[in-house]
Amino acid sequence: MENSFRLTGFMGTNDSYEAAKAIILGVPMDFTVSLRPGSRTGPQQVRTFSYGLEEYSIYQNKSLENLAFYDAGDLTLPFGNITKSMDIIEKAAERIFADDKLPIFLGGEHLVSYPLIKACYKHYPELYVIHFDAHADLRSEYEGEVYSHATVMRKVAELLGSRRIYQFGIRSGIKEEFEFAREHTHIYVNEIFPSLRDAVLLLKQKPVYISLDIDVLDPAYAPGTGTPEPGGFTSREIIEAILTMAPLNVVGMDIVEISPPNDHSERTAILGAKLVREALLAYVK
Ligand code: MN
Ligand code: MN
Repeated sequence: MENSFRLTGFMGTNDSYEAAKAIILGVPMDFTVSLRPGSRTGPQQVRTFSYGLEEYSIYQNKSLENLAFYDAGDLTLPFGNITKSMDIIEKAAERIFADDKLPIFLGGEHLVSYPLIKACYKHYPELYVIHFDAHADLRSEYEGEVYSHATVMRKVAELLGSRRIYQFGIRSGIKEEFEFAREHTHIYVNEIFPSLRDAVLLLKQKPVYISLDIDVLDPAYAPGTGTPEPGGFTSREIIEAILTMAPLNVVGMDIVEISPPNDHSERTAILGAKLVREALLAYVK
């Protein structure tokens, strides 16, 4: 049963890995989620709803028909084993970066971004990260665990060094996280625009990895997520954000925390599919 879903990739693509400039890879891990698990089925749900999308984007006047991309399906992970799973995720990502292809990873919980960015950083030592999220994700530990969806950007900050992360849309966290952010990241509390435009100008020559936690959106637009946080951004603003980053040298991206069991209208997965389409068209050069 499981394999029968994998016969068709995102938007029905049947391009080969070799020919593809971009790779979609599902990372179905949701082992450290605190409130509502379920994002392990996110990648498959995004694929399912991609079939309702047009290949053509009116925003960019471009079509996926003219872009070779490959959907590698979902990784097989040993459920519950975080260390081993992170290892598998890192190795899979390393291969894509080594082949000079642009990966778009679909989560899964946000912790998957740590091994993904680790693999990316090995290939691009000058890497910067643009992080969209309702939550700072900068805790030093969560419930005694160092590796968690709530600590992921702290681990990334420790890996890349100071001031390599730009955080947008953040509206939740503990005091310690905001103190850490003031010294070690660039944080834009409750804001995307206009600061994102300035960041794009600053980072124009650098390799950039984009990590998009779907809960940056308001739960009205993206209710299907583990930790919804009211007071968020609209679908229009996030699409605008994706398009605004088109001039950057985007070398990798993830969209995480889409959780189908909480997505009763499927609007979160539908949005996720649209964001993937726009990202492919905007970032594959
Ligand atoms: Mn997050
Ligand atoms: Mn979040």
